Amino acid sequence: MDDILHGLNKAQREAVTSEASVLQVLAPPGSGKTKTLTTRVAYLIAHRHLKPWNIITCTFTKKAANEMKERLRSFIGEELAKQIKLGTFHAIAAQYLRQYGQHIGLAKDFGIADTSDSKAIIKRIIKRRDLTSEVPKALGRISANKCKGIESGQFAQTAKNVDQQEFALIFSEYEAELMASNLLDYDDLLLRCCFLLRTHPQCVSNVQAVLIDEFQDTNTVQYDLMALFAQKRNMITIVGDPDQSIYGFRHAEIKNLNLMKDQWPDTLTINLEENYRSSGAILHAAQEVIEQDESRPQKKLQATHTYGLRPVLRKLPSAAAEASWLVSEIGRMCAMSGKVLQHSDFVILLRSAALSREIEAALGRDGVPYRMVGGKKFFERAEVKIVVDYLQIINQPSHSEAVERIINVPSRRIGDATVKSFREEASTKGISFWELICGVSQDKIRSTTKLPAATEKGVSSFVNVILSGRRKISEANDGQTSLVDLINLVVKKIDLQSYLKNKYENEYEARWSNVEELMAQAADASDPARLKAMVEEDSLPTIDGLEQRTAGSEDILSIFLANIALTSSAETKQAEGAEPVQQVTISTIHSAKGLEWPVVFIPACYEGSIPHSRSDDNDEERRLLYVGMTRAQALLYQSCPIKDTQRQETIMSSYLTQPGVQHHFEEHGPLMSIHEAKSLATTLRREQPTTASYEEGKKDLESELDNYWPLNGEQPPEERAKWDYGKATNHVTAFGTARSASWVA
Ligand code: ATP
Ligand code: MG
Repeated sequence: MDDILHGLNKAQREAVTSEASVLQVLAPPGSGKTKTLTTRVAYLIAHRHLKPWNIITCTFTKKAANEMKERLRSFIGEELAKQIKLGTFHAIAAQYLRQYGQHIGLAKDFGIADTSDSKAIIKRIIKRRDLTSEVPKALGRISANKCKGIESGQFAQTAKNVDQQEFALIFSEYEAELMASNLLDYDDLLLRCCFLLRTHPQCVSNVQAVLIDEFQDTNTVQYDLMALFAQKRNMITIVGDPDQSIYGFRHAEIKNLNLMKDQWPDTLTINLEENYRSSGAILHAAQEVIEQDESRPQKKLQATHTYGLRPVLRKLPSAAAEASWLVSEIGRMCAMSGKVLQHSDFVILLRSAALSREIEAALGRDGVPYRMVGGKKFFERAEVKIVVDYLQIINQPSHSEAVERIINVPSRRIGDATVKSFREEASTKGISFWELICGVSQDKIRSTTKLPAATEKGVSSFVNVILSGRRKISEANDGQTSLVDLINLVVKKIDLQSYLKNKYENEYEARWSNVEELMAQAADASDPARLKAMVEEDSLPTIDGLEQRTAGSEDILSIFLANIALTSSAETKQAEGAEPVQQVTISTIHSAKGLEWPVVFIPACYEGSIPHSRSDDNDEERRLLYVGMTRAQALLYQSCPIKDTQRQETIMSSYLTQPGVQHHFEEHGPLMSIHEAKSLATTLRREQPTTASYEEGKKDLESELDNYWPLNGEQPPEERAKWDYGKATNHVTAFGTARSASWVA
């Protein structure tokens, strides 16, 4: 017991060991909510003898789930840890549907429609019906209704005005198309799972405890799902922080916290007050920002770390200058910290992914390795999507979205008009797109459309690729299924290399390496041990008297594809066993929720960016900035270019210009002494820098400084006069880098 509870404070222990059936832990960022939740899972297994497979734990991202699993392994060992049902709401719902979906009439091989699939369907409906709605708006509206549990039929009944009727039509046709393609969208996963658990409560009769992280961001359907998971024993633990609620735009309901207390009046609430993440200086600044919201209750928050280094707030002339300043600060801090800091300690948090261009360019120029989170997803990159689409159709040919997207990639002389006429014909005949084109290629069904010979050949070649893929899968016997072989077969049959070479020329190498990355992931998944683990992890415990579809190795393709669909932006996975690469992270603030880094940059802090011009919830935007700031452990940089990327003058974010904020910040990054570098290492619980490593870092910076011409005295005075010498020297005295001063020019 001591082992598990070791190092927790009193309130955390109380939460971990609480006998309460329904427990809320509400606490500010960095107070150990996630740590407490994880420890409670271990505690329930080790001391209350709950079985790991009877515990459901929901996190917000897969990355958070993996981190939790890692911590649990160290508490209770690999064998027990892997049996816990731990994942995002969507992943757990998908698991239940795969195994019990037949009880609500769901085919086993249902596919998951991602956002691009959903958009494509809506776009087509709008076009077909000659409507004026915008695709993203319609999709948002569909999702809003689904999240509130309103179905298309229900909506249609209450639709009054023209706008509502038009939307009702899109909504119902969208649902019909998903059904025809045997697809569920993200909202469906949750809704259908709710339906399953409501009508077949036996499915969760084994569940002994349900635990939810980041509860403040759950929506109505997720709340229902939580209650349904827990319906047998009502043992629920949630942790959350109303100040970090940032998903209002996705229909998260902060009132779920009170709803819970209404539903279970005995709910016990525990507050945590000590912050273990950030330095005092960072906490003060963040507090100052969140307290601008006067409607929120005052909360106690205590730093456990020393005051540390003051956060930096800096104005730069342009977005490009901001980007190069930021990159030079990364280099400078790595060197000046005596190598306590490495590239992977830095994160650049953006209000929207679109802001990353300048920063990526600056990192690229300086050869700083980085990874993008929450931007263009790995699986959305064209070349990866092509392969995944083929796999999807091989897995489930009724996936008409994928078929239409890919039937002419690479070109098979099947034009848009042909695709359209196929679609219409399939719809009239009441068969799927795939069934129709199979007929066409095998001459069983005579297409009413007269096709040129070249097109007919094209259709046949497409059908052949899919059929040979399906043969490969069915030939494979237990444990021998190789996803890599399957991908290789597809890649060869469609001659993807030539296609990418022709289409992308200069970018070919990068594009092809993404395909290789996909193969590496597939290889990882097909490894017999990994395969066994995947199938095991995907299995739910057997329940007496309830028919269940257990996963076998033949399901590897379905499981692999579901994993892809449910991998959110934050999480392009690194192949197992690969050396972790030291790289800077670029992420949206939303995707950084729950995570922490030693050094955080939040650039582009201007009106229109944060608060965002498209958001009408000023408080939610402020909370978003607060979430960003509280990711930082030791050092926080915020900045604002005077002109944005469109060269328009900016106004600094009002959250940072209110009285009382700016004195928490200073203008320049710290000139760290060895003493400060040591204290930084203590804060981060790292090895102390040696004097030698500190001197070495300093020397590197100084030699860079020599290259900095305004200081080496060789330039003609008139050239030198162009520089704001005062500012530049101020910035580079001691050992700032050459590039950090370049913005002053
Ligand atoms: P957020 O609201 O941002 O999700 P959180 O409340 O979930 O934050 P955690 O991520 O669990 O906070 O913890 C923040 C950091 O503090 C982690 O590095 C964690 O290991 C550390 N921590 C939490 N509790 C303690 C403790 N009692 N002693 C030492 N470190 C702790
Ligand atoms: Mg957390």
